[in-house]
Amino acid sequence: MASTLVVNVLDLLRRPGSQKEVSVVVKAADFDFGDSRLDDAADVAVDIELESSSTGIVAHGSAQVAWRSMCRRCLRPVDGAVIAELDEAFSRGVTAAVHHHGDTAGDALSETEPIVGDQIDFTLPVREAVLLAVPEAPLCRADCPGLCPQCGADRATTKCACVTETRDERWAALDVLRGKLDDAVE
Ligand SMILES: [Zn+2]
Ligand SMILES: [Zn+2]
Repeated sequence: MASTLVVNVLDLLRRPGSQKEVSVVVKAADFDFGDSRLDDAADVAVDIELESSSTGIVAHGSAQVAWRSMCRRCLRPVDGAVIAELDEAFSRGVTAAVHHHGDTAGDALSETEPIVGDQIDFTLPVREAVLLAVPEAPLCRADCPGLCPQCGADRATTKCACVTETRDERWAALDVLRGKLDDAVE
């Protein structure tokens, strides 16, 4: 796990209202993503701003990483980069869970993590945010025509003779009828 993402917050806790900035580049391998979209050798650029209050610490930031995947329609390789937003709240005491208000992140902030040993480990929050931000089923382009469901031809480059895609309702009705006739014959 990425030790550079373990931040000592003792100074911050001693002076409520103080801030600290963390800017590090960590290898994707350090997060154990276990996700084919994220190359272990990729750099994850993490920027986090921490601010302390009398009850704990609020952290806002982002993690930027390149991903690669496949177009969900034509299976061409697709790549891109995401900026995953981080919004985390940490409380001083394990039992004193403080709810954070007035932010845009909604549910992400409703849970407050305890600060253990005057340190905050951002490895897991960053990991989670990145996995959520990487697109699940990307497209190579918005109007990718995809593959022909019948012959598998790439419709962006090939015009096949298959006619399945513009199926007429009346033919569908006829098929049903045909099916019934077949049943009757058997
Ligand atoms: Zn495509
Ligand atoms: Zn076809």
